[in-house]
Amino acid sequence: MSDRAPQWVERRLPTEESSQLVDLVRDIVQREIAPRAAQEEEAGHFPREVFTLLSESGLLGLPYDSEHGGGDQPYEVYLQVLEELSAARLTVGLGVSVHSLACHALAGYGTKDQRTEHLPEMLSGGLLGAYCLSEPASGSDAASLRTKAVRDGDDWVITGTKAWITHGGIADFYTVLARTGAEGARGITAFLVPGDAAGLSAAVPEKKMGMKGSPTAQLHFDGVRVPDARRIGDEGQGFAVALSALDSGRLGIAACAIGVAQAALNEALGYATGREQFGRPIADFQGLRFMLADMATRIEAGRALYLEAARLRDAGRPFSRQAAMAKLFCTDAAMQVTVDAVQVLGGYGYTQDFPVERLMREAKVLQIVEGTNQIQRMVIARHLAGPESR
Ligand SMILES: Cc1cc2nc3c(=O)[nH]c(=O)nc-3n(C[C@H](O)[C@H](O)[C@H](O)COP(=O)(O)OP(=O)(O)OC[C@H]3O[C@@H](n4cnc5c(N)ncnc54)[C@H](O)[C@@H]3O)c2cc1C
Repeated sequence: MSDRAPQWVERRLPTEESSQLVDLVRDIVQREIAPRAAQEEEAGHFPREVFTLLSESGLLGLPYDSEHGGGDQPYEVYLQVLEELSAARLTVGLGVSVHSLACHALAGYGTKDQRTEHLPEMLSGGLLGAYCLSEPASGSDAASLRTKAVRDGDDWVITGTKAWITHGGIADFYTVLARTGAEGARGITAFLVPGDAAGLSAAVPEKKMGMKGSPTAQLHFDGVRVPDARRIGDEGQGFAVALSALDSGRLGIAACAIGVAQAALNEALGYATGREQFGRPIADFQGLRFMLADMATRIEAGRALYLEAARLRDAGRPFSRQAAMAKLFCTDAAMQVTVDAVQVLGGYGYTQDFPVERLMREAKVLQIVEGTNQIQRMVIARHLAGPESR
């Protein structure tokens, strides 16, 4: 196992407060996350206590209003925090991103009363969230979802199955998209469902290639009753709510990807300078030097792209196209960089004695979640074709 001291990325953060925040994250990473990451991932252990600590430290609601328990941080800062967490352990970085996604609907579309009642405990009260859009038969074509919510007096009764839910079975609240009207995108409504609702159950988590510590499970809604006060936004507005959360969520995935890639590059660099063949460190050979240069360039280009999209979002400008580009580029970069890192380590890269094989397995999922990279290309192309084609 590699035991070198972590190499921190030099960051240009906008305020002194945000620099202190990143220092706090690095302290938590070094003490609580990195030392246990490999072992707990292998054992499939979800570090719930780390999420409790992040919540207590104000790190689970960073991009949201302090009025409701958030951290008032720009997205530019929040994403760099995700990058730091993901470099240590993707289960944690992606978990924070998914939690944030699950809060997005209520923060953006909830009424004043709903926000006052629920957001403080979601953002800084120790709760963990999940986001339920995908279903067994509707993934990329999310608007074809079939889970139904039927009005019954002041309540809604939800029936159906959600698939692939990160934190499924362990979350305290679920942001759920369900059909309340006709077929298609306009018949969908969003709800905030408590984790202990009667009729809600989770299947055994999926056995995954990587991110084994992060539970991903089907959720069954068997007549789950929620009051109308837990409907988020208008009836039929759910798909717009879901998509607006995904624009922001995709930036989170881009930052997670750059974290994974940076961790792989750090490992590769450390190994290449220490390992000798033909009487010289392998880092002296041009074949590897060019590979390392390409890896570093992909990472810096990806970071610049996600930060540019985040700054547009922070300035209140449209950022959907740039978010799709950042998700596409950063996750493809993470895949390439982690595969290359395994190559730099030679046979050792293929063993569990070094973290690069885990990072390579983790990178793969980032090309799939929150819209596959084929779907990102469709989104980008639609933007290029002009507003009438969207
Ligand atoms: C570990 C993990 C965690 C996840 N967490 C969540 C979560 O928390 N909440 C949630 O709601 N979902 C979650 N997902 C689901 C994820 O968002 C979906 O897997 C993803 O959207 C793809 O859907 P699908 O798997 O049904 O694939 P499909 O949509 O069936 O796609 C299969 C293949 O076809 C391609 N494809 C489909 N349509 C087109 C097209 N029009 N043009 C070109 N290619 C196309 C896709 O790119 C893909 O390569 C998670 C998935 C994983 C693996």
